[in-house]
Amino acid sequence: MRLAYIIALTACFNAATCINSTITDDNYAFTFDYLLKYGYLSNDVDAIPAQRRNDVFRKAFKEFQNYYNLPGDGTLNNETLKFMSKSRCGFRDILKHETKASLSKWPKTHLTWHFHLADENELNTAQAAFDLWSQHSALTFERSEMPNADIIISWRRLLHYNTNIEVNGELCSDKFDGPGNVLAHAFFPTEQAGFVSEVHVDGDEPWHIYVNKHPADKFSLHYTLTHEIGHSLGLPHNRRTTSVMFAIQPDQQYPVKLDQYDIVDIQRLYGEKIQNDKPRRTPAPAPPPPPSPDLCSLDRVNGILILENRMYISYKRYVWSVDLDGRTYNGPLALSKHMSFLHDNYTRVTAAYQSPSGDLMVFVDNLVYLVQYPEFSLRPGWPKTLQELGFPENALINGAVNTHRGRSYVVFNGNAVGEINECDQDKRVAKFTPLEATFPGIPKGVTSIFRYIDGNLYFTTRSQFYKFNEFTRTVSSAGKFDLRILNIVCPKAELLQQLRDLLDRIVRFNDNSLTSASDYWNDDDTGVRLSDFRIRRRK
Ligand SMILES: [Zn+2]
Ligand SMILES: [Zn+2]
Repeated sequence: MRLAYIIALTACFNAATCINSTITDDNYAFTFDYLLKYGYLSNDVDAIPAQRRNDVFRKAFKEFQNYYNLPGDGTLNNETLKFMSKSRCGFRDILKHETKASLSKWPKTHLTWHFHLADENELNTAQAAFDLWSQHSALTFERSEMPNADIIISWRRLLHYNTNIEVNGELCSDKFDGPGNVLAHAFFPTEQAGFVSEVHVDGDEPWHIYVNKHPADKFSLHYTLTHEIGHSLGLPHNRRTTSVMFAIQPDQQYPVKLDQYDIVDIQRLYGEKIQNDKPRRTPAPAPPPPPSPDLCSLDRVNGILILENRMYISYKRYVWSVDLDGRTYNGPLALSKHMSFLHDNYTRVTAAYQSPSGDLMVFVDNLVYLVQYPEFSLRPGWPKTLQELGFPENALINGAVNTHRGRSYVVFNGNAVGEINECDQDKRVAKFTPLEATFPGIPKGVTSIFRYIDGNLYFTTRSQFYKFNEFTRTVSSAGKFDLRILNIVCPKAELLQQLRDLLDRIVRFNDNSLTSASDYWNDDDTGVRLSDFRIRRRK
């Protein structure tokens, strides 16, 4: 064990006021190993200079508390310790970036499975677990009597071997821990030819091997296999407690079911269930993506965000970055290249704002991503659904802004406003108000909101813009909305040309004191230069 490090951590914790006397040195060692095993601490933690270690550990601890919605400030308390001792899956919660990047799915939708040395009841339960995934996706499964299947399930104990030694090597990379704590683990699919995913179930646990309701002192094999097969299909852990991919074993594991987002997640990887059961084939390769739209051809936008001296304009899946000083725009940007954590098949970035902490709140379809800026890395525990933040089921986001006074508002469903509580780590809505009550004079139909350095908030609708003074709570001016407002002129007189007026107005307030543009979003090969209000395409 990393004794010196643990001694240092002990000192760190003893300095904290919330430490309970029942927390012992053993607990610290346990906690350290736990955070390391589940991805909250990186493997090179030993290389961190001693003076930074307490901070690193506290940050990891806070991430864990955030992930599971536990109260705490990054220091160890009994509630967190108790939570860490719950029975759970041995798979990491936090995937390293490279793990996520290499995250893969099976290149086929028909998979074979084998349960090594299983009896009839265990086979029936495994079949029921596979059925849950095939009922909600294009996947089909077939049991193989031989251990040469795509997914192999086996009972294992303590330090253990793989079943398919030829493909996966002799020893499993992760040992079991006897009764309690880790119940099972599984391995993501990779794109290697002949890959075999193994599901290992800890044979030292008290298992209920049948599909029916489990007694309180036993774990449901049906539930655990459904979860582990999810990993074998490419699904990571999910922090929703209703998800079958939640890492902690719930007390009540019956009946076993996928929640609506589990179904969305598996369908994102493999498609919807094919109703006609006959053709069991891998879907045809996706058609080439349609050509990217030009900013100039848009008749409206979904969102506008100003960061430093760049303006980001979003429309559906696309984002353009406009340099306010040089009046150049780039794009559309490959947003998923910069934010690789965005879910596949997202349709639009509906709104974004920068919170007082500097993090970005990015609204994408029904999900909200909390993104560290300027690193563009996803905060642990995110994304969350709009409903998790407290929005109603049918909420459609129109725009979001953090005002000069530091308050964050989300306009949705045309005329409703939710104010986000920025002090709440989960960023839940603190209260709802009618649009007219919070922003008098702003009409229904807002398509984007942004805050500008001139001290005003700008609201756009399809055809109008409104300059709103949040201190006097009045609309100080309004006009026809077009892209000339953003000082962007297009070859053809469409939206961009119209927006010029707005940016003309804005630029008058520009005191030229802005720092140079951040380059995080630049895609030089698609750039377009605007100079003296004229566009010249780069050659
Ligand atoms: Zn798991
Ligand atoms: Zn194993």
